[in-house]
Amino acid sequence: MATDLLIRNVTLVSPAGQRVVNIFIADGAFSAILDPGPLPFVPAAETINGTGLVALPGLIDGHVHFREPGLTHEETWLSGTRAAVFGGVTTVLDMPNTVPPTDSVERARAKLALADASAYCDFGIFGLVGESADRIGEVCSSGLVVGLKAFMGPTTGDLPSPDDDLLFRALEQARTSGLRVAFHAEDRATIEAARSGESRTDAIAHLETRPADAEVRAIERIGALLKATMARGHICHVSSSAGLDAVREWQRREVDLTCEVTPHHALLGRDVYADFGGVAKVNPPIRGEPDAATLLDGLGHDRVGLLVSDHAPHLAADKMRASIWDVPSGFAGTETLLPLMLTAVDDGRLSLERLIHATSEAPAKTWGLWPRKGQVAVGADADLTLVDLERVGEIHAANLHGMNNISPFEGRATIGAVVTTIVRGRVAVRDGQLVAEPGWGQPVRTNSRSSSTA
Ligand SMILES: [Zn+2]
Repeated sequence: MATDLLIRNVTLVSPAGQRVVNIFIADGAFSAILDPGPLPFVPAAETINGTGLVALPGLIDGHVHFREPGLTHEETWLSGTRAAVFGGVTTVLDMPNTVPPTDSVERARAKLALADASAYCDFGIFGLVGESADRIGEVCSSGLVVGLKAFMGPTTGDLPSPDDDLLFRALEQARTSGLRVAFHAEDRATIEAARSGESRTDAIAHLETRPADAEVRAIERIGALLKATMARGHICHVSSSAGLDAVREWQRREVDLTCEVTPHHALLGRDVYADFGGVAKVNPPIRGEPDAATLLDGLGHDRVGLLVSDHAPHLAADKMRASIWDVPSGFAGTETLLPLMLTAVDDGRLSLERLIHATSEAPAKTWGLWPRKGQVAVGADADLTLVDLERVGEIHAANLHGMNNISPFEGRATIGAVVTTIVRGRVAVRDGQLVAEPGWGQPVRTNSRSSSTA
């Protein structure tokens, strides 16, 4: 078979370890992974010298908000996936709280068409656990979504929190279709009680009205519903030690429950509120130490499966409003996820193998994309990220490639940078330059049977 792209003498890192190889790509898939040696007589159409670089499975960012349709002043599929490929991300999974929300087959189809027209990387979408159980059932069986998402507490878009009866029916529909349900786990009643009578308007007040207790209560309710329905669940962006313990407890009770953490919950301290004010506002809130260290440690020791960005950009002016209650929650993150976490690897706080597992194999298995996505193996999609582990950088919104890049990581030094990103065999970013055309990205094909071993 003719080789379209050859990456020579690159150090391939997989969850199992590291070795120097030549990687052959043909027709968008890995065609051979060979020890360095004499090359075949037939030359490759394109060759990249990988000497001194490390090759990772292309990252799957399992939690992004690309804001299209409806909020295209904040992000679009074009700008969001452009940021993604600069960050070494080759597949994104988009959340359903767009305008309108992704709560019907028609809306799922419309969102996929928007993404298909302009995405630089591959993509999947979540369907919303909205207000109609019948529509949830149709979305589940449509084959258009990688999973469902339910918001248990108030957040961006202020979508309704489903009651137990609706959740029960949604979980049964998801189980029947082989889909997993992702939860934003913050208990609405706990937050509303903490909020009542709150007169402060500073950034820390937001943290104090969203205690870890709200996370634990939501996880308790989710666990009980999963146990009753035997459905599969996933806790998004776990933010506290107590929340992680609650997830572990349900796993011990043989509930199929996976979870994820973000760089901001695992790396930032409480001083972020003094330094960045409302820019740092996110749900659930950044809690600082000791929770952050526990989350990073959980990622390193298999207590947390997935690492995601929760990329959720807003206009800088909106993030800078005087009262914290007027500031929207979330910030950009898909482009900075890998450099930030490579820096934690450089610090010796996380192994490269665990980082890769959390951004490739784990999300691929959790959301039914394995084995086509999430590994460098013959026959799998040729999604590959080449990084220079030594290259230093500094995060500045002005240098990033989304539409609204402000984040509480502004000014932070990094060690480890993305050099080249390859999406299904085609180079999207080469030596820090965008070389792909928009629209190459395709919807992921899910095998509709997410694995419990992630
Ligand atoms: Zn989110």
